[in-house]
Amino acid sequence: MSQHPITLIGGGLVGALLAQQLAQRGFAVDVFEKRPDPRQAGFLGGRSINLALAERGLHALRSTGLADDVLQRAVMMRGRMVHDRDGQHGLQRYGIDDSEVIWSVSRGALNTLLLDAAEAAGAKFHFDQALTTVDFDRQRIRLADANGVERELSAGLLIGADGAGSALRAAMNAHTPLGERVEPLDHGYKELEIPPASELPAAVLQAGEGRDGFALEPNALHIWPHGSYMCIALPNTERSFTVTLFLPSQGAAPSFATLPDAAAAATFFTEQFPGLLPLMPRFAEDFEHNPIGTLSTLYLQRWHLDGRALLIGDAAHAIVPFHGQGMNCGFEDTVVLANLLAEARDDHAEVFAEFQRQRQPNADAIARMALENYIEMRDSVADPHYLAKRELGALLAARIPTHYMARYRMVTFTHLPYRYALERGQAQDALLEQLLRETPDVATIDIDTAAQRFVSTLAPLPELR
Ligand code: FAD
Repeated sequence: MSQHPITLIGGGLVGALLAQQLAQRGFAVDVFEKRPDPRQAGFLGGRSINLALAERGLHALRSTGLADDVLQRAVMMRGRMVHDRDGQHGLQRYGIDDSEVIWSVSRGALNTLLLDAAEAAGAKFHFDQALTTVDFDRQRIRLADANGVERELSAGLLIGADGAGSALRAAMNAHTPLGERVEPLDHGYKELEIPPASELPAAVLQAGEGRDGFALEPNALHIWPHGSYMCIALPNTERSFTVTLFLPSQGAAPSFATLPDAAAAATFFTEQFPGLLPLMPRFAEDFEHNPIGTLSTLYLQRWHLDGRALLIGDAAHAIVPFHGQGMNCGFEDTVVLANLLAEARDDHAEVFAEFQRQRQPNADAIARMALENYIEMRDSVADPHYLAKRELGALLAARIPTHYMARYRMVTFTHLPYRYALERGQAQDALLEQLLRETPDVATIDIDTAAQRFVSTLAPLPELR
Protein backbone atom coordinates (compact mmCIF):
# COMPACT_ATOMS: atom_id res chain seq x y z
CA MET A 1 0.00 0.00 0.00
CA SER A 2 1.39 3.45 -0.84
CA GLN A 3 1.90 5.85 2.05
CA HIS A 4 -0.13 8.95 2.52
CA PRO A 5 1.79 12.07 1.40
CA ILE A 6 2.77 14.44 4.20
CA THR A 7 2.41 18.23 4.17
CA LEU A 8 4.74 19.64 6.78
CA ILE A 9 4.40 23.27 7.84
CA GLY A 10 7.69 24.80 9.07
CA GLY A 11 11.23 23.84 8.08
CA GLY A 12 12.93 24.94 11.29
CA LEU A 13 14.91 22.58 13.52
CA VAL A 14 12.11 20.13 14.29
CA GLY A 15 10.45 20.33 10.85
CA ALA A 16 13.69 19.67 8.97
CA LEU A 17 14.69 16.72 11.18
CA LEU A 18 11.20 15.22 10.94
CA ALA A 19 11.19 15.68 7.15
CA GLN A 20 14.45 13.75 6.89
CA GLN A 21 13.14 10.88 8.99
CA LEU A 22 9.84 10.61 7.14
CA ALA A 23 11.58 10.72 3.76
CA GLN A 24 14.02 8.03 4.98
CA ARG A 25 10.97 5.88 5.79
CA GLY A 26 9.60 6.28 2.27
CA PHE A 27 7.03 9.04 2.77
CA ALA A 28 6.55 11.76 0.15
CA VAL A 29 7.14 14.93 2.18
CA ASP A 30 6.50 18.54 1.12
CA VAL A 31 7.68 21.18 3.57
CA PHE A 32 6.33 24.75 3.41
CA GLU A 33 8.57 27.25 5.17
CA LYS A 34 7.69 30.90 5.73
CA ARG A 35 11.27 32.19 5.49
CA PRO A 36 13.59 32.22 2.51
CA ASP A 37 16.06 29.37 2.11
CA PRO A 38 18.75 30.18 4.72
CA ARG A 39 21.37 28.50 2.53
CA GLN A 40 20.85 31.21 -0.08
CA ALA A 41 19.56 34.16 1.90
CA GLY A 42 21.83 33.69 4.93
CA PHE A 43 20.24 32.69 8.16
CA LEU A 44 17.81 35.37 9.26
CA GLY A 45 18.07 34.30 12.84
CA GLY A 46 15.65 32.59 15.16
CA ARG A 47 15.20 33.76 18.68
CA SER A 48 18.51 32.53 19.98
CA ILE A 49 21.76 32.40 18.12
CA ASN A 50 23.15 29.25 19.69
CA LEU A 51 21.57 26.41 21.57
CA ALA A 52 22.64 23.71 23.97
CA LEU A 53 22.35 20.25 22.44
CA ALA A 54 22.11 17.41 24.96
CA GLU A 55 21.80 13.63 24.87
CA ARG A 56 18.14 13.47 23.81
CA GLY A 57 18.74 15.65 20.78
CA LEU A 58 21.99 13.86 19.99
CA HIS A 59 20.24 10.51 20.21
CA ALA A 60 17.72 11.61 17.57
CA LEU A 61 20.54 12.93 15.39
CA ARG A 62 22.44 9.64 15.82
CA SER A 63 19.41 7.71 14.61
CA THR A 64 19.49 9.66 11.34
CA GLY A 65 23.29 9.55 10.94
CA LEU A 66 23.84 13.27 11.62
CA ALA A 67 25.34 13.35 15.12
CA ASP A 68 29.00 13.37 14.08
CA ASP A 69 28.48 16.15 11.53
CA VAL A 70 26.71 18.26 14.13
CA LEU A 71 29.33 17.67 16.83
CA GLN A 72 32.07 18.78 14.45
CA ARG A 73 30.35 22.16 14.39
CA ALA A 74 29.77 22.36 18.15
CA VAL A 75 31.68 23.51 21.25
CA MET A 76 31.72 21.21 24.27
CA MET A 77 30.40 22.61 27.57
CA ARG A 78 31.46 20.61 30.63
CA GLY A 79 29.44 22.50 33.18
CA ARG A 80 28.31 25.82 34.51
CA MET A 81 31.01 28.39 35.12
CA VAL A 82 29.41 30.44 37.87
CA HIS A 83 30.73 34.02 38.16
CA ASP A 84 30.11 35.86 41.42
CA ARG A 85 29.90 39.60 41.93
CA ASP A 86 33.55 39.79 43.01
CA GLY A 87 34.79 38.36 39.74
CA GLN A 88 35.51 34.92 41.23
CA HIS A 89 34.36 31.96 39.17
CA GLY A 90 34.23 28.19 39.48
CA LEU A 91 33.08 25.28 37.33
CA GLN A 92 30.11 23.17 38.50
CA ARG A 93 30.37 20.08 36.32
CA TYR A 94 27.15 18.83 34.76
CA GLY A 95 27.97 15.14 34.71
CA ILE A 96 30.43 12.69 36.12
CA ASP A 97 33.09 13.14 33.41
CA ASP A 98 33.58 14.24 29.77
CA SER A 99 31.14 11.58 28.59
CA GLU A 100 28.44 13.75 30.17
CA VAL A 101 28.68 17.17 28.57
CA ILE A 102 26.41 19.39 26.52
CA TRP A 103 27.23 21.09 23.22
CA SER A 104 26.80 24.64 22.02
CA VAL A 105 25.63 24.66 18.39
CA SER A 106 24.76 27.51 16.07
CA ARG A 107 21.05 27.53 15.27
CA GLY A 108 21.76 28.64 11.69
CA ALA A 109 24.46 26.03 11.01
CA LEU A 110 22.31 23.28 12.51
CA ASN A 111 19.25 24.28 10.48
CA THR A 112 21.32 24.33 7.28
CA LEU A 113 22.73 20.88 7.98
CA LEU A 114 19.26 19.48 8.69
CA LEU A 115 17.79 21.01 5.52
CA ASP A 116 20.59 19.49 3.40
CA ALA A 117 20.05 16.08 5.00
CA ALA A 118 16.27 16.20 4.56
CA GLU A 119 16.60 17.15 0.90
CA ALA A 120 19.18 14.42 0.34
CA ALA A 121 16.68 11.94 1.80
CA GLY A 122 14.05 13.11 -0.71
CA ALA A 123 11.96 15.73 1.15
CA LYS A 124 10.88 18.72 -0.98
CA PHE A 125 11.18 22.21 0.54
CA HIS A 126 9.16 25.22 -0.59
CA PHE A 127 10.59 28.41 0.92
CA ASP A 128 8.93 31.82 1.21
CA GLN A 129 5.64 29.98 1.68
CA ALA A 130 3.73 30.95 4.83
CA LEU A 131 0.65 28.99 5.77
CA THR A 132 -2.26 31.42 6.16
CA THR A 133 -5.46 29.38 6.35
CA VAL A 134 -6.62 25.79 6.15
CA ASP A 135 -9.89 24.27 4.94
CA PHE A 136 -9.75 20.98 6.83
CA ASP A 137 -12.97 19.66 5.35
CA ARG A 138 -11.74 20.08 1.78
CA GLN A 139 -8.11 19.30 2.77
CA ARG A 140 -6.86 22.52 1.18
CA ILE A 141 -4.27 24.99 2.49
CA ARG A 142 -3.56 28.62 1.56
CA LEU A 143 0.01 29.87 1.42
CA ALA A 144 1.39 33.38 1.00
CA ASP A 145 4.76 34.15 -0.61
CA ALA A 146 7.12 36.94 0.47
CA ASN A 147 5.06 39.50 -1.51
CA GLY A 148 1.83 38.38 0.11
CA VAL A 149 0.62 36.65 -3.06
CA GLU A 150 -1.58 33.74 -2.04
CA ARG A 151 -2.23 30.38 -3.63
CA GLU A 152 -4.27 27.36 -2.65
CA LEU A 153 -3.09 23.77 -2.70
CA SER A 154 -4.50 20.41 -1.79
CA ALA A 155 -2.76 19.07 1.31
CA GLY A 156 -1.63 15.66 2.43
CA LEU A 157 -1.55 14.65 6.04
CA LEU A 158 -0.91 17.97 7.83
CA ILE A 159 1.84 18.24 10.44
CA GLY A 160 2.66 21.58 12.05
CA ALA A 161 6.28 22.19 13.05
CA ASP A 162 5.81 25.92 12.68
CA GLY A 163 6.95 26.91 16.14
CA ALA A 164 5.47 28.65 19.16
CA GLY A 165 3.33 31.01 17.06
CA SER A 166 2.06 28.15 14.86
CA ALA A 167 -0.35 29.17 12.08
CA LEU A 168 -1.52 25.57 11.75
CA ARG A 169 -2.38 25.54 15.46
CA ALA A 170 -4.43 28.74 15.02
CA ALA A 171 -6.29 27.17 12.08
CA MET A 172 -6.95 23.93 13.99
CA ASN A 173 -8.09 25.89 17.04
CA ALA A 174 -10.54 27.89 14.89
CA HIS A 175 -12.00 24.62 13.55
CA THR A 176 -12.16 22.78 16.90
CA PRO A 177 -10.84 24.42 20.10
CA LEU A 178 -7.62 22.76 21.26
CA GLY A 179 -7.84 23.88 24.89
CA GLU A 180 -4.93 26.28 24.52
CA ARG A 181 -3.34 28.03 27.50
CA VAL A 182 -0.31 30.28 27.21
CA GLU A 183 1.50 31.28 30.40
CA PRO A 184 3.82 34.19 29.71
CA LEU A 185 6.94 34.53 31.83
CA ASP A 186 7.26 38.02 33.28
CA HIS A 187 10.95 38.02 32.31
CA GLY A 188 12.29 38.82 28.85
CA TYR A 189 15.72 38.43 27.28
CA LYS A 190 18.21 40.27 25.11
CA GLU A 191 21.14 38.83 23.21
CA LEU A 192 24.57 40.48 23.27
CA GLU A 193 27.99 39.36 22.10
CA ILE A 194 31.53 38.83 23.36
CA PRO A 195 33.83 38.79 20.30
CA PRO A 196 36.92 36.56 19.96
CA ALA A 197 39.83 37.51 22.23
CA SER A 198 41.78 38.78 19.19
CA GLU A 199 39.25 41.62 18.86
CA LEU A 200 39.66 42.75 22.47
CA PRO A 201 42.41 44.86 24.04
CA ALA A 202 44.77 42.72 26.14
CA ALA A 203 43.99 44.82 29.22
CA VAL A 204 40.38 43.65 29.43
CA LEU A 205 41.19 39.95 29.18
CA GLN A 206 41.35 38.55 32.68
CA ALA A 207 44.55 36.62 33.18
CA GLY A 208 44.10 32.92 32.62
CA GLU A 209 40.37 33.01 32.10
CA GLY A 210 40.17 32.59 28.35
CA ARG A 211 41.88 30.03 26.13
CA ASP A 212 42.38 29.18 22.46
CA GLY A 213 41.35 32.62 21.29
CA PHE A 214 38.21 32.80 23.45
CA ALA A 215 37.81 35.67 25.92
CA LEU A 216 36.46 33.28 28.58
CA GLU A 217 36.91 29.57 29.25
CA PRO A 218 35.44 28.04 26.06
CA ASN A 219 34.24 24.67 27.39
CA ALA A 220 31.60 25.96 29.77
CA LEU A 221 28.20 27.60 29.93
CA HIS A 222 28.90 30.81 31.82
CA ILE A 223 26.38 32.16 34.33
CA TRP A 224 26.33 35.40 36.27
CA PRO A 225 23.45 34.64 38.71
CA HIS A 226 21.96 37.68 40.44
CA GLY A 227 18.82 36.53 42.24
CA SER A 228 15.92 37.80 40.17
CA TYR A 229 17.95 38.17 36.96
CA MET A 230 21.05 36.77 35.28
CA CYS A 231 23.36 36.72 32.28
CA ILE A 232 24.50 33.55 30.55
CA ALA A 233 27.07 33.07 27.77
CA LEU A 234 27.48 30.13 25.39
CA PRO A 235 30.58 29.67 23.19
CA ASN A 236 30.49 29.72 19.39
CA THR A 237 32.91 27.85 17.10
CA GLU A 238 34.17 31.20 15.75
CA ARG A 239 35.48 31.92 19.30
CA SER A 240 32.83 34.44 20.25
CA PHE A 241 30.17 34.02 22.95
CA THR A 242 26.48 34.77 22.68
CA VAL A 243 25.49 36.48 25.93
CA THR A 244 21.85 36.52 26.99
CA LEU A 245 20.55 38.88 29.66
CA PHE A 246 17.35 37.60 31.35
CA LEU A 247 15.55 40.31 33.30
CA PRO A 248 12.00 41.15 34.46
CA SER A 249 10.19 42.86 31.59
CA GLN A 250 8.33 45.44 33.70
CA GLY A 251 8.33 46.87 37.18
CA ALA A 252 10.87 48.40 39.53
CA ALA A 253 14.59 48.39 38.78
CA PRO A 254 16.13 46.31 37.53
CA SER A 255 13.80 45.53 34.64
CA PHE A 256 13.89 46.13 30.91
CA ALA A 257 11.40 48.94 31.51
CA THR A 258 14.00 50.74 33.64
CA LEU A 259 16.71 50.38 30.97
CA PRO A 260 15.32 52.55 28.18
CA ASP A 261 18.60 52.91 26.30
CA ALA A 262 22.15 51.63 26.01
CA ALA A 263 23.52 54.29 28.38
CA ALA A 264 21.20 53.19 31.19
CA ALA A 265 22.01 49.57 30.40
CA ALA A 266 25.76 50.24 30.50
CA THR A 267 25.43 51.81 33.96
CA PHE A 268 23.44 48.76 35.09
CA PHE A 269 26.11 46.39 33.72
CA THR A 270 28.92 48.42 35.31
CA GLU A 271 27.24 48.02 38.69
CA GLN A 272 25.95 44.45 38.35
CA PHE A 273 28.19 42.64 35.86
CA PRO A 274 31.42 44.64 36.09
CA GLY A 275 33.67 42.00 34.52
CA LEU A 276 31.35 41.44 31.59
CA LEU A 277 30.88 44.89 30.12
CA PRO A 278 34.51 45.44 29.01
CA LEU A 279 34.30 42.15 27.07
CA MET A 280 31.47 43.54 24.92
CA PRO A 281 32.85 46.41 22.80
CA ARG A 282 29.66 46.49 20.69
CA PHE A 283 27.42 46.56 23.79
CA ALA A 284 25.67 49.85 22.95
CA GLU A 285 24.91 48.80 19.37
CA ASP A 286 23.70 45.33 20.38
CA PHE A 287 21.58 46.66 23.21
CA GLU A 288 19.90 49.23 20.97
CA HIS A 289 19.35 46.94 17.98
CA ASN A 290 18.59 43.52 19.38
CA PRO A 291 14.95 43.07 20.35
CA ILE A 292 13.72 42.10 23.81
CA GLY A 293 12.52 38.52 23.41
CA THR A 294 9.47 37.28 25.27
CA LEU A 295 9.10 33.82 26.77
CA SER A 296 6.11 31.68 27.59
CA THR A 297 4.93 28.14 28.16
CA LEU A 298 2.26 26.70 25.89
CA TYR A 299 -0.15 24.02 27.10
CA LEU A 300 -2.67 22.36 24.79
CA GLN A 301 -5.29 19.82 25.71
CA ARG A 302 -5.35 18.45 22.15
CA TRP A 303 -2.36 18.22 19.84
CA HIS A 304 -4.30 16.90 16.85
CA LEU A 305 -7.48 17.31 14.84
CA ASP A 306 -8.61 13.67 14.52
CA GLY A 307 -6.48 12.13 11.74
CA ARG A 308 -6.16 15.30 9.69
CA ALA A 309 -3.61 17.49 11.45
CA LEU A 310 -1.04 17.20 14.23
CA LEU A 311 1.30 19.61 16.02
CA ILE A 312 4.88 18.79 17.02
CA GLY A 313 7.83 20.60 18.65
CA ASP A 314 7.26 24.16 19.88
CA ALA A 315 3.96 24.32 17.97
CA ALA A 316 2.57 21.77 20.46
CA HIS A 317 4.54 22.52 23.61
CA ALA A 318 6.74 25.64 23.63
CA ILE A 319 8.64 25.96 26.92
CA VAL A 320 10.95 28.49 28.55
CA PRO A 321 14.62 27.91 27.67
CA PHE A 322 16.15 27.45 31.12
CA HIS A 323 16.78 23.73 30.90
CA GLY A 324 18.09 24.01 27.34
CA GLN A 325 15.60 21.31 26.32
CA GLY A 326 13.07 22.82 23.88
CA MET A 327 14.86 21.64 20.76
CA ASN A 328 16.04 18.44 22.45
CA CYS A 329 12.44 17.60 23.36
CA GLY A 330 11.26 18.44 19.83
CA PHE A 331 13.98 16.20 18.36
CA GLU A 332 12.83 13.37 20.65
CA ASP A 333 9.27 13.97 19.33
CA THR A 334 10.40 13.48 15.73
CA VAL A 335 11.73 9.95 16.31
CA VAL A 336 8.56 8.88 18.11
CA LEU A 337 6.28 10.29 15.41
CA ALA A 338 8.27 8.99 12.44
CA ASN A 339 8.25 5.48 13.95
CA LEU A 340 4.53 5.58 14.76
CA LEU A 341 3.65 6.77 11.26
CA ALA A 342 5.88 4.17 9.63
CA GLU A 343 4.45 1.34 11.74
CA ALA A 344 0.73 2.11 11.39
CA ARG A 345 0.15 3.77 8.08
CA ASP A 346 -3.58 4.00 7.85
CA ASP A 347 -5.26 4.97 11.06
CA HIS A 348 -3.84 8.45 11.39
CA ALA A 349 -6.24 9.51 14.11
CA GLU A 350 -4.94 6.65 16.25
CA VAL A 351 -1.31 7.42 15.39
CA PHE A 352 -1.76 11.06 16.34
CA ALA A 353 -3.60 10.15 19.55
CA GLU A 354 -0.85 7.69 20.47
CA PHE A 355 1.81 10.33 19.77
CA GLN A 356 0.06 12.72 22.15
CA ARG A 357 -0.38 9.95 24.75
CA GLN A 358 3.34 9.21 24.69
CA ARG A 359 4.69 12.73 24.48
CA GLN A 360 2.32 15.05 26.34
CA PRO A 361 3.10 13.88 29.91
CA ASN A 362 6.77 14.30 29.08
CA ALA A 363 6.28 17.72 27.49
CA ASP A 364 4.33 18.84 30.59
CA ALA A 365 7.11 17.57 32.84
CA ILE A 366 9.94 19.35 31.00
CA ALA A 367 7.82 22.52 30.86
CA ARG A 368 7.67 22.46 34.64
CA MET A 369 11.34 21.56 35.13
CA ALA A 370 12.36 24.35 32.73
CA LEU A 371 10.48 26.89 34.85
CA GLU A 372 12.05 25.48 38.03
CA ASN A 373 15.49 25.61 36.46
CA TYR A 374 15.18 29.36 35.97
CA ILE A 375 15.12 29.82 39.72
CA GLU A 376 18.01 27.40 40.06
CA MET A 377 20.15 29.16 37.45
CA ARG A 378 19.59 32.75 38.41
CA ASP A 379 19.49 32.22 42.15
CA SER A 380 20.23 28.83 43.63
CA VAL A 381 23.56 28.07 41.95
CA ALA A 382 25.05 30.55 44.40
CA ASP A 383 22.93 29.52 47.39
CA PRO A 384 24.65 27.59 50.25
CA HIS A 385 21.65 25.28 50.85
CA TYR A 386 21.49 24.41 47.15
CA LEU A 387 25.25 23.76 47.13
CA ALA A 388 24.96 21.54 50.22
CA LYS A 389 22.21 19.53 48.53
CA ARG A 390 24.31 19.22 45.40
CA GLU A 391 27.30 18.04 47.43
CA LEU A 392 25.24 15.45 49.32
CA GLY A 393 23.68 14.33 46.02
CA ALA A 394 27.13 13.85 44.49
CA LEU A 395 28.24 11.72 47.46
CA LEU A 396 25.12 9.58 47.14
CA ALA A 397 25.46 9.25 43.37
CA ALA A 398 28.95 7.83 43.91
CA ARG A 399 27.86 5.54 46.76
CA ILE A 400 24.51 4.26 45.41
CA PRO A 401 24.38 4.89 41.63
CA THR A 402 21.54 2.36 41.42
CA HIS A 403 19.35 4.55 43.66
CA TYR A 404 20.41 8.17 43.23
CA MET A 405 20.88 10.24 40.11
CA ALA A 406 20.66 14.03 40.02
CA ARG A 407 17.55 15.20 38.17
CA TYR A 408 19.62 17.43 35.90
CA ARG A 409 21.60 14.37 34.87
CA MET A 410 18.45 12.33 34.14
CA VAL A 411 17.10 15.14 31.96
CA THR A 412 20.31 16.01 30.20
CA PHE A 413 22.31 12.80 29.83
CA THR A 414 19.79 9.96 29.69
CA HIS A 415 16.68 9.00 27.72
CA LEU A 416 14.63 8.36 30.85
CA PRO A 417 11.23 9.95 30.19
CA TYR A 418 11.02 13.56 31.39
CA ARG A 419 7.99 12.58 33.47
CA TYR A 420 10.06 9.96 35.29
CA ALA A 421 12.88 12.47 35.88
CA LEU A 422 10.41 14.93 37.40
CA GLU A 423 8.80 12.41 39.75
CA ARG A 424 12.02 10.67 40.74
CA GLY A 425 13.62 14.06 41.28
CA GLN A 426 10.82 15.06 43.67
CA ALA A 427 11.17 11.86 45.68
CA GLN A 428 14.96 12.21 45.91
CA ASP A 429 14.71 15.87 46.81
CA ALA A 430 12.34 15.14 49.69
CA LEU A 431 14.90 12.71 51.16
CA LEU A 432 17.81 15.12 50.67
CA GLU A 433 15.83 17.86 52.42
CA GLN A 434 15.02 15.50 55.28
CA LEU A 435 18.69 14.54 55.73
CA LEU A 436 19.86 18.16 55.63
CA ARG A 437 17.19 19.21 58.13
CA GLU A 438 18.53 16.58 60.52
CA THR A 439 22.22 17.34 59.81
CA PRO A 440 22.76 20.65 57.99
CA ASP A 441 26.54 20.21 57.63
CA VAL A 442 27.16 17.71 54.81
CA ALA A 443 30.62 16.90 56.17
CA THR A 444 29.07 15.40 59.30
CA ILE A 445 26.38 13.30 57.59
CA ASP A 446 26.96 9.57 57.83
CA ILE A 447 26.82 8.64 54.14
CA ASP A 448 26.21 4.94 54.76
CA THR A 449 23.11 5.68 56.82
CA ALA A 450 21.93 8.27 54.29
CA ALA A 451 22.46 5.81 51.45
CA GLN A 452 20.55 3.15 53.36
CA ARG A 453 17.59 5.51 53.67
CA PHE A 454 17.51 6.00 49.90
CA VAL A 455 17.82 2.28 49.18
CA SER A 456 15.06 1.34 51.57
CA THR A 457 12.71 4.11 50.45
CA LEU A 458 13.12 4.32 46.68
CA ALA A 459 12.93 1.70 43.93
CA PRO A 460 16.16 1.20 41.99
CA LEU A 461 16.65 3.48 38.98
CA PRO A 462 15.83 1.87 35.63
CA GLU A 463 18.80 0.46 33.76
CA LEU A 464 20.15 3.00 31.31
CA ARG A 465 20.18 2.13 27.61
P1 FAD B 1 11.12 26.92 15.42
O1 FAD B 1 12.54 26.68 15.63
O2 FAD B 1 10.43 28.09 15.95
O3 FAD B 1 10.81 26.71 13.87
C1 FAD B 1 9.54 26.96 13.31
C2 FAD B 1 9.70 27.16 11.80
O4 FAD B 1 8.40 27.35 11.24
C3 FAD B 1 10.53 28.39 11.47
O5 FAD B 1 11.46 28.08 10.47
C4 FAD B 1 9.47 29.39 10.96
O6 FAD B 1 9.97 30.28 10.00
C5 FAD B 1 8.43 28.45 10.37
N1 FAD B 1 7.09 29.04 10.32
C6 FAD B 1 6.49 29.81 11.26
N2 FAD B 1 5.26 30.17 10.85
C7 FAD B 1 5.07 29.59 9.64
C8 FAD B 1 4.00 29.60 8.72
N3 FAD B 1 2.88 30.29 8.95
N4 FAD B 1 4.13 28.89 7.56
C9 FAD B 1 5.28 28.20 7.31
N5 FAD B 1 6.34 28.18 8.15
C10 FAD B 1 6.23 28.87 9.30
N6 FAD B 1 16.32 24.56 23.08
C11 FAD B 1 17.30 23.67 23.39
O7 FAD B 1 17.13 22.45 23.23
N7 FAD B 1 18.49 24.11 23.90
C12 FAD B 1 18.74 25.43 24.13
O8 FAD B 1 19.82 25.79 24.61
C13 FAD B 1 17.72 26.38 23.81
N8 FAD B 1 17.93 27.70 24.03
C14 FAD B 1 16.93 28.59 23.73
C15 FAD B 1 17.12 29.94 24.02
C16 FAD B 1 16.12 30.86 23.77
C17 FAD B 1 16.35 32.30 24.10
C18 FAD B 1 14.90 30.42 23.21
C19 FAD B 1 13.80 31.39 22.93
C20 FAD B 1 14.69 29.07 22.92
C21 FAD B 1 15.70 28.15 23.19
N9 FAD B 1 15.52 26.79 22.95
C22 FAD B 1 16.50 25.89 23.27
C23 FAD B 1 14.26 26.27 22.40
C24 FAD B 1 14.36 26.04 20.90
O9 FAD B 1 14.74 27.24 20.27
C25 FAD B 1 13.03 25.56 20.35
O10 FAD B 1 12.50 24.54 21.16
C26 FAD B 1 13.19 25.03 18.93
O11 FAD B 1 13.64 26.06 18.07
C27 FAD B 1 11.85 24.48 18.44
O12 FAD B 1 11.98 24.09 17.11
P2 FAD B 1 10.71 24.12 16.17
O13 FAD B 1 11.21 23.67 14.82
O14 FAD B 1 9.58 23.41 16.81
O15 FAD B 1 10.28 25.64 16.08
